[in-house]
Amino acid sequence: MLNRRIFLAAPPALALGAATLPTAGLAFPTAIHSKTQLLPRTGKGPRIVICGGGWGGMTAARYLRELIPQADVVLLERNPSFWSGPMSNKWLIDIVNTDFVNRDMLGPANKYGYTLVNTEVTGFDRDKKIVRTAQGNVDYDYLILAGGIRNAYDAWFGNDRKASEYTRTHFPNAYIPNGEMFALKRKLHEFKGGVMVMTLPPPPHRCPPSPYERACLMAWHMKKNKIPGKILILDPKPKIGPIGEGYRAAFGELYPDIITHVPNAGVKEVDPFNKRIKTAAGDFDFDDAVLMPPHQASDMVWHAGLIGKGADGKPTGWADMHPRLFTANSDDSVYFVGDLMGFVSSQFGHYPKSAHVANAIGKIVARNIAERVSGKEVVAVLPDNLCYMMVNGDPQEEISVKFEYELDASGRVLQNQIDMDVRTNDLVKDDFAWINGRFNDFL
Ligand SMILES: Cc1cc2nc3c(=O)[nH]c(=O)nc-3n(C[C@H](O)[C@H](O)[C@H](O)COP(=O)(O)OP(=O)(O)OC[C@H]3O[C@@H](n4cnc5c(N)ncnc54)[C@H](O)[C@@H]3O)c2cc1C
Repeated sequence: MLNRRIFLAAPPALALGAATLPTAGLAFPTAIHSKTQLLPRTGKGPRIVICGGGWGGMTAARYLRELIPQADVVLLERNPSFWSGPMSNKWLIDIVNTDFVNRDMLGPANKYGYTLVNTEVTGFDRDKKIVRTAQGNVDYDYLILAGGIRNAYDAWFGNDRKASEYTRTHFPNAYIPNGEMFALKRKLHEFKGGVMVMTLPPPPHRCPPSPYERACLMAWHMKKNKIPGKILILDPKPKIGPIGEGYRAAFGELYPDIITHVPNAGVKEVDPFNKRIKTAAGDFDFDDAVLMPPHQASDMVWHAGLIGKGADGKPTGWADMHPRLFTANSDDSVYFVGDLMGFVSSQFGHYPKSAHVANAIGKIVARNIAERVSGKEVVAVLPDNLCYMMVNGDPQEEISVKFEYELDASGRVLQNQIDMDVRTNDLVKDDFAWINGRFNDFL
């Protein structure tokens, strides 16, 4: 959906010249120290550095190379391979295999012609337009931050690192692409019974409907394997949502003896060592748990000094950005893509922190940067969102939610939510068509 045109100038230093392709593929640094220039520039086009190669970052990399052929596009990613959040709940109970969710990144880098560096982004010198990484410095004309989320254990434990680490290692939540995915899968498959607690983060958090999907699929696994387990969902919200009716029906009709949903159960205190949790809806003991603390923008936004501040002067936890251009409010050479994005609208707050939105914004930002580089007006475009959630493993059935966006007369973004609460096998087919289409877009 197109809407207003906005003029944002290209940086004056940026001279467009003959199309010279950057070296595609994986870059190997030779020496490593804090002043090392990791990648000397090639060509005369702008250098665009993307921090984080997940759903949003990989999409942006592909489309930047396509829309600005002379650009030197560099993708910095800490993980050796791509791991998808979507489908990872189904992977937990073997509906899809590891190769489906875990993909090679070098192939797309070579196919689309961007430079992939496997490294940790450690900081920024925005005055000099430099990204610091574990392997040296990388300079940029435009910077895209696409690092996803972090688990804010400090909201529960303050500076008590022992409690944070114990919680992370003993009750992993697997909401970030890393080794926790395997740890959670193993935990589930070794679970012999008892009370499994799931805490949900307060909104906004990554993929709002997916913790309920995970509860359904874990319950289905327990039912199928006759494991005498109970799942207690401790939800800070007053009711299930989105797709609340669909989930309520699934919990009540498919897993009445397994899943209990506790509303208004915001976490007050967690004692991971003694397996006790205090919430606004009461205190609970557990045998095992999937403990999700509040989510925040990934560390890189904090390192860049670009976290928003609320009316109370405290950090919002999310990027401080223009709601329709996705640039940092204080630095228009920096863009945000994906879950780390900040406040968008007084009607609904944040865009859903979903892969669908990250993919859509990756394309929008690539197009907006291309418009700037070629001296055109920037056309602000709104995303859409679509999420499919499996609630039954046999027969396989899903529910789904769609979000549409438009502008009101004052330029405020409005959201329309359409829940598909009736679980059907047709939605499973739609889900696989959706994920294969998205994967083909950037992998
Ligand atoms: C269980 C589950 C189910 C989900 N289901 C759906 C679904 O059905 N549909 C849907 O649309 N969405 C779903 N999501 C949400 C989706 O996974 C996220 O919204 C999406 O991944 C966001 O993309 P992103 O690019 O912002 O972050 P990510 O995909 O997480 O990518 C961020 C990348 O940045 C890297 N990174 C972070 N910090 C650094 C650093 N300092 N240095 C180098 N690299 C760094 C990370 O390693 C990561 O690869 C689900 C998520 C989960 C966990």
